[in-house]
Amino acid sequence: MQELLERKKGFRRSILIVDDDHIAREILGKMLEDQYEVSYAENGVKALDIIKRDKLKLSLVILDLHMPQMDGYSLLKLLRSDNELRRIPIIVLTSEKGAEVESLKIGAADFITKPFDMPEVICARVGHSIELAEDSIIIHETERDELTGLFHKEFFFQYGKRLDELNNNMPMDAVVVDINRFHVVNELYGRSYGDLVLKTIGDSLHELVSENGGLACRRDNDQFCIYLPHSDELINKLPQYIAAIDERINDSNISLRFGVYSDDGSEKCMEHRFDCARLACRKLRNSYVSCFALYNNEQHCKELYAEKLINDMDKALSEKQFMVYYQPKYSIKGDRPQLSSAEALIRWSHPEYGMISPGQFISLFEENGLIQKLDRFVWNEAAAQIKLWKDKYGIDIPVSVNVSRVDMFNAHLAEILENITKQNGLDNTELLLEITESAYTDDSEQIIETVNKLRGLGFRIEMDDFGSGYSSLNMLTSLPIDALKLDMKFIKVICENPKSARLVGIMIDIARLLEVPVIAEGVETEEQMELLKKLGCDIIQGYYFSKPLPPEEFGALIEKELR
Ligand code: C2E
Ligand code: CA
Ligand code: CA
Repeated sequence: MQELLERKKGFRRSILIVDDDHIAREILGKMLEDQYEVSYAENGVKALDIIKRDKLKLSLVILDLHMPQMDGYSLLKLLRSDNELRRIPIIVLTSEKGAEVESLKIGAADFITKPFDMPEVICARVGHSIELAEDSIIIHETERDELTGLFHKEFFFQYGKRLDELNNNMPMDAVVVDINRFHVVNELYGRSYGDLVLKTIGDSLHELVSENGGLACRRDNDQFCIYLPHSDELINKLPQYIAAIDERINDSNISLRFGVYSDDGSEKCMEHRFDCARLACRKLRNSYVSCFALYNNEQHCKELYAEKLINDMDKALSEKQFMVYYQPKYSIKGDRPQLSSAEALIRWSHPEYGMISPGQFISLFEENGLIQKLDRFVWNEAAAQIKLWKDKYGIDIPVSVNVSRVDMFNAHLAEILENITKQNGLDNTELLLEITESAYTDDSEQIIETVNKLRGLGFRIEMDDFGSGYSSLNMLTSLPIDALKLDMKFIKVICENPKSARLVGIMIDIARLLEVPVIAEGVETEEQMELLKKLGCDIIQGYYFSKPLPPEEFGALIEKELR
């Protein structure tokens, strides 16, 4: 910077004139000699040598477009794409109409036409170009990252926002580029190698925005951002770009990940667009197969919702937002259906979302183990409820609780359940356990061992959702279970679909073979009930009799039964 300012104060600046025509070289040189140190080259190759040697000293290059060896266009392109040489302004010499526009497009600062204008005009153009370039270098010194030549973060966002304003908020795409495990690269191969990688990426991204418009910056140590006018075509091509950059880096240990926010017309601000792109990029962390992720609003909302439910669970438990409902099961063996037991089903009355069904949170809580805490709460509630009804009405209503597959891997499961029944003064036979068929097929040995242990203690096991898992017939015959609960999907269509009815018949036969009763759930109509009765089903659960009810309402059902 200091050097630049000194130069401004007025010692002679250096200019290189590149032209194969020595007369033209001399005429120009004569015009400029009074004011500048002038050097000469007769072709692009020689010019490039001089420019590289004098890169810190040169203030301007005047370049003829048509020369042998390397012509002016090639040299111009080369200089503009080089981070270190890019700062030197170039004026092109041409005698053709049209060539000016072409050369300005590829980065010339100005042009001078042959035959030459008056010396004053030429000197003015040269002086003007140098001044403009030096002013812009003073700005660039601070707004650009030294290593990559891309913008610094602050300038990037400032210019981006200005661009949005000027363009009347036209659609813009945001791309975040991260290097996988870059710190390891630095540690293993040294900083200068790391710098080389960063520079290669910087160059590639610079090319990308030069070709497509837009801005690029190095955001953090190893993160880059690109802001581009929205284009589906370009977004579709990005994976190819990534592959090309990977190839350019040419190191199998280094890979990039691109998180992309493609403008969907929702008029987000620039920062918000980059938040979305960063979220998409973060998802690729630790992924070995994928290097490109597009932000998806719907999916993001779902994730936020899931995260919120997970965060809210503890508080919900302590604030009693969870409630246990009971759905009756009726025996249909006799002349009239008879209340035989109930299933405990969790309900969440969320302060913001209202009543949420377990379908929305059970599998979520299974993923992170939270389900164990919740299930224990339900088991306790159910046991206390059985005891309460027993004391109040003098009858035993066994209640089945759902035992998640996650619970089955808890080494203390039997102990936990026994404690619950004991504390509530119940016999283990009074708390029925529903375990889904697919849990058996996931890890049959472990599950069967646990189930045997539980049965040994007197707990009775109902296999839930039977027909949805993949039990082999062979495995079925040796299963330690006390009841089969048919999967609801068969019942739903049992009256319309004869195949479904046949299947239910076969499942009932299997239950006969195992000598256990069959429970059908999801029974909604009398027709379904009658058909199931005809097929030999023992117990029915479903809206036909009752929806799951809060304990008080279930109490009323017991009273009705007792009358
Ligand atoms: P599931 O164990 O198969 O429970 C039966 C589901 O069917 C319940 O849904 C019940 O309300 C619903 N249902 C009952 N009768 C009918 C009917 O006639 N028609 C229709 N369409 N549906 C009926 P819910 O309460 O939404 O529970 C969904 C699933 O969430 C349960 O399926 C169970 O897998 C799980 N779940 C519920 N509570 C708990 C719990 O405390 N612990 C665990 N681990 N899972 C639970
Ligand atoms: Ca169940
Ligand atoms: Ca079920």
